[in-house]
Amino acid sequence: MTVPFLDLSAQYLELKSELDAALRRVVESAAFVGGEEVRSFERELGAYLGARHAVGVANGTDALEIALQALGVGPGDSVLTVPFTFAATIEAIVRVGARPMLVDVDEEDLTLNVEAAANRMERHRAKAVIAVHLYGHPADMQRLRALADAHGAALIEDAAQAHGASCLVDGQQRRVGSFGDAACFSFYPTKNLGAMGDAGAIVTQSEEVAERARLLASHGESEKYRHVLPNGRNSRLDAIQAAVLRVKLRHLDRWNAGRRALARHYGELLSGLPLRLPSERTGRRHVYHQYAIRVASRDRVKEALARAGIGTAVHYPLALHQQEGFRALVGNDERFPVSEASAREILSLPIFPQLDAHSVGRVAGELRRILAADQPQ
Ligand SMILES: *Cc1c(COP(=O)(O)O)cnc(C)c1O
Repeated sequence: MTVPFLDLSAQYLELKSELDAALRRVVESAAFVGGEEVRSFERELGAYLGARHAVGVANGTDALEIALQALGVGPGDSVLTVPFTFAATIEAIVRVGARPMLVDVDEEDLTLNVEAAANRMERHRAKAVIAVHLYGHPADMQRLRALADAHGAALIEDAAQAHGASCLVDGQQRRVGSFGDAACFSFYPTKNLGAMGDAGAIVTQSEEVAERARLLASHGESEKYRHVLPNGRNSRLDAIQAAVLRVKLRHLDRWNAGRRALARHYGELLSGLPLRLPSERTGRRHVYHQYAIRVASRDRVKEALARAGIGTAVHYPLALHQQEGFRALVGNDERFPVSEASAREILSLPIFPQLDAHSVGRVAGELRRILAADQPQ
C-alpha cells in the first residue's frame, strides 16, 4: 500500500456533484471573467475571514505585488520579511522596486522572529512588514501589529498557506487575514482552499486599499475605458475559479479540522522519536497546510520513505538568501541560522483532509523503523 503525498482527485470526488453543478452554471452563464460569481466569492471570503473587503486576483504572487503597490510601497522603500518562505514573498518586493530586508525565523514555529524584526527596525526604516504564516501556523500577529504601528510601517500577511488559521485575541479566535493592512491569499490547487487553476485574493479592512487594489488589478479602470492609474495591469479572477472556490469555502472548516485531527494522530505516533514535531503556539490555531517535521539526515529519510511507497516533500530545500537569484539581495554579514538549519532538516509528511488515519499510522510506522535502523546498536 502506497501513501501519496497529496491526492487532489480524492478532493474532487468528495464534492463531485456540487463542483460539477457550479462549473455547469458558469459555462451556461457564459460570464467567464469577473461578474456575479466573482463578486459573490469576494463577499463570502471577506465574511468568512472577518475582513471588510476582498479583491479577487489572478494568483497569490500578484496579490502580494498588488497589495504592496496599493499600500504605497515602491522604489527606495525597504520591506521586512523572512528568507524561509516561498519565492513569491520576496519576488513581489523586488518587482515593485523595493528592497527586501530579511530577518530570521523563530526557532520554534518558523514564522517571523519578532525580536529580530524589532531590532532590525530600530536600525533601519521599513515601509512595510510581510509576515508569512508558514505551513498554516499563524505568525505572532498581535505583537507584529504593535511593532508595525510603533514604526509607522504597513503590515501585510502572506496567508497563502493559512486559510482559516486563527489567533486568540481578547478571548476570541480571529482568522488570519483580518490583522494586516492587507492580507494575500493564493488558491493554487494544492493550498488548503484550492481552485482548479491559478487564483488569488487581497483582503483588507480598508476601503481605500481595496479600491486601489481593484484598480491596479484591472487596468486602472474606474469605469469602462476610463483609466485613472498609469500602472494598472490585468490580474483578474475568473468566474470558473470563483465558482469552484465558493463550493470549497463551505467545506474549509471541516477540512481544516480533519487536517488538525491527522496532525494530532501523527503527534501521538511520532512522539519519542529523534525528530522535531511541528509546534502550535498557545493561542494560535495551526491549519497544517503542511505537517513539517525536522529530522537529521533528512535526504536519506526521505529516500527510505519513498522506497516504502510514501510520498513526502521539502518546503524548502534552500532558504531564499541561499538561492542564486536572491543572493545579491543580502549583505555578506547577514546570518540566518534558523532558516538554514530548517532548510537542511525540514520534511513534509502526507497530510490532506481525505487521508485516513490508517495511512498516517503507516507513515509513522515506517519512520519509526527507518530511524530505529539509524541508531547505533
Ligand atoms: C503559494 C504561495 C504563494 C504564491 O501563490 P501563487 O498563487 O502560487 O502565486 C505566495 N506565498 C506563499 C507562502 C505561498 O505558499
